[in-house]
Amino acid sequence: MRAVDLIRKKRDSGEHTREEIAYLVAGYTKGEIPDYQMAAWLMAVWIRGLSHAESLALTEMMLYSGEIVDHSNLPMIKVDKHSTGGVGDNTSLILGPIVAAGGLAVPMISGRGLGHTGGTLDKLEAIPGFNTALTLAEFRHVLRECGLSLIGQTTEIAPADMKIYALRDATSTVENIGLICASIMSKKLAEGIDVLVLDVKTGSGAFMQKEEDAIRLAEVMVDTAHRMGKKCVALLTDMGQPLGRMAGHSNEVIEAIDVLKGKGPDDLRELSVELSAWMFHLGDRTKSVEEGRRLAEEMIASGKALDRFRQCIRLQGGDARVIDDAFLLPTAKSQVNVTSPKSGYITATRCQDFGIALAMLEGGRGKKEDRIDHGVGMEFHKRIGDGVQAGEKLVTIQYNSEAKLAEAKNLVASSFEFGDQPPLAPPLIRQVIGG
Ligand code: URA
Repeated sequence: MRAVDLIRKKRDSGEHTREEIAYLVAGYTKGEIPDYQMAAWLMAVWIRGLSHAESLALTEMMLYSGEIVDHSNLPMIKVDKHSTGGVGDNTSLILGPIVAAGGLAVPMISGRGLGHTGGTLDKLEAIPGFNTALTLAEFRHVLRECGLSLIGQTTEIAPADMKIYALRDATSTVENIGLICASIMSKKLAEGIDVLVLDVKTGSGAFMQKEEDAIRLAEVMVDTAHRMGKKCVALLTDMGQPLGRMAGHSNEVIEAIDVLKGKGPDDLRELSVELSAWMFHLGDRTKSVEEGRRLAEEMIASGKALDRFRQCIRLQGGDARVIDDAFLLPTAKSQVNVTSPKSGYITATRCQDFGIALAMLEGGRGKKEDRIDHGVGMEFHKRIGDGVQAGEKLVTIQYNSEAKLAEAKNLVASSFEFGDQPPLAPPLIRQVIGG
């Protein structure tokens, strides 16, 4: 086999065999296929697409390029959730403790912020001392002790994805459903899980803004998981506005703790409970999703989920006092309000712009190598459908550097759309795929 022939085959809309995909992945991971050939193949894939069978083969080859974490010493069913990302999406920090407290094991290998979206690892690192770079042995130990551990991708986990993702990032070939599916699923399946619940976002703050693209991505990922022998469901959820009332790293830790204390905003609580309920149900902990919802609520009301989060923070080297004292988290020195230019109703937001504005203020990771200021954040005072008076507060921006403040403030101000009539409030959970 020669890489040049496989590039031509994909360029001319051919379908690869499993052997051909195996040749490309192994050859590139070992350094036998150079970047320029793999980049050409990725661009051909980006233009021509991958069939379900090709995407499945790519997932498998990338998964088996590394280790699959062995948790066979743990009797509990292992479950995880993956979100395709958005603004203010901190459900992992909430549902991880809920599901662990409810009796399942949650081995989470998470990512950092990407473009305008936040990342679980960056959020956790707002907690002083929290170590997201555990070895796999330490990861297994924390999981055994408290049923929940959250770390980043290590060199043992899907190394082919690590290398291919960096090349995709540098060649504008990230946004392709088959490639995204293989990249996400290879890492998630390497966690050694039995069940995966997917939160596929759609709307102006999602990577897949169009609903039909998000549905296709959800279907390919669920199908791939099923073919790999895992239970899987995808919830298609709204990202036409930020989830919860807060964005930014310290802010989202505070809001997650609020929900675990039985408070917090309704939408964030509802989605966290719903995702937990599916994890309980597919993890055979409850007979139905409805029973799963009740168990999730019980874990919050009894304080067991909060205790589990406290234990996990301690085991991963973090300062668990943040649970009772938010001032131990990094904070911003200054704040400024963005006010409404007119009276009326909020009809839509360009949600992605909130994430871009956060990154401008160093409160996000516009580029992978960007420095993060965990104290920078936003508080959203209005949601789609809310009435507003001219001059009323829409968003409070918390910042440390004035360098791009004016630009960020303008972007936030122009992200709102107004009308004279209240629009229909968009449903948070749009549909369930698979299950
Ligand atoms: N997240 C990933 O891990 N991979 C992708 O391709 C896109 C998002």
